Amino acid sequence: MMKKIAYLGLGTMGSGMASNLLKAGYELTVWNRSAEKCKPFARKGARVAETPADAARDVDLIMYMLSNDEVVEDVVFGAKGILRGIREGQIAIDMSTVLPATSLRQQEAYAKRGTDFLDAPVFGSKQESAEAKLWIMAAGNKAIFEKIKPVLEHLGQTVHYFGKNGNATAMKLVGNLIVALELEALSEGLVLAQKAGLDLNTVMEVVKVADFRSPLLVSNGRNILKRNFSTSFALKLMLKDAGLIEKFSESLEAPIPALRIVEKNLALAVDLGFGKENASALIKALEKKAGVEVKGR
Ligand code: NAP
Repeated sequence: MMKKIAYLGLGTMGSGMASNLLKAGYELTVWNRSAEKCKPFARKGARVAETPADAARDVDLIMYMLSNDEVVEDVVFGAKGILRGIREGQIAIDMSTVLPATSLRQQEAYAKRGTDFLDAPVFGSKQESAEAKLWIMAAGNKAIFEKIKPVLEHLGQTVHYFGKNGNATAMKLVGNLIVALELEALSEGLVLAQKAGLDLNTVMEVVKVADFRSPLLVSNGRNILKRNFSTSFALKLMLKDAGLIEKFSESLEAPIPALRIVEKNLALAVDLGFGKENASALIKALEKKAGVEVKGR
């Protein structure tokens, strides 16, 4: 029975998941680089750890959701990292979007300490994290997966098992390839529609019902028309993921011609200063080229 959980990384995604673990009744320890983000959790009874190594002390399960591969490397392998505090029999779960190679490197290091490791990245964003409606993938030892599945079910609406370590992170990159192309398609479509003088609210009504509809197109389209780029998934993280998809695809010699174009537009939007806005701010790169601003009624 999992009772004591440490959650590291209380950003957009991690804070929602940590809150849901508290609500589910687990004894929670939290750690975050910027300590102020721990305060609301401390007020609700969580222990605040000094370091990642300290967070790993005296828990059954260590979960983390961090920006990128470099941060995961630091928090896991660093001088005050999780590996310095972990004990045999504990379980570690990396939920961050990283390269499958980073998942494998962690699995090997944890195995040397007698600790099991799962990679368990997620689909869904800020709202799904807060509402425990994420779509979760997990990979690693099947028996360990079965053991922690009830915990993951407190965080998401679906949990899929993907086999050996690294496969769940691979699936995450496959999904984000599709997300990036959908966002590019939406952006190009809306800019074209604006140039053509179409009523954009009616355009989105059709996107909502036609056979190419998707919740991602509808929610991002709605917000673009309102010029609402408040961050659920930061543009700079989408650019980071495009880089991961590129590296991963190259290692497998899988073609990604369209993703390469999207990556350039993401980089342009970041250069224009929109990196901290939502990933849908990708459209601003196209708007600049087109000399228009896409806006609804
Ligand atoms: P975020 O809000 O930027 O949070 C990032 C977390 O990483 C924060 O806790 C941050 O700490 C920590 N961090 C950053 N640099 C660090 C460092 N050098 N040392 C230690 N900790 C550091 O990002 P997020 O949106 O939650 O995303 C987290 C991960 O989830 C990423 O891998 C992202 O690709 C993935 N993801 C995001 C979404 C989404 O919709 N947002 C969806 C699925 C997956 P501070 O608070 O101190 O900055």
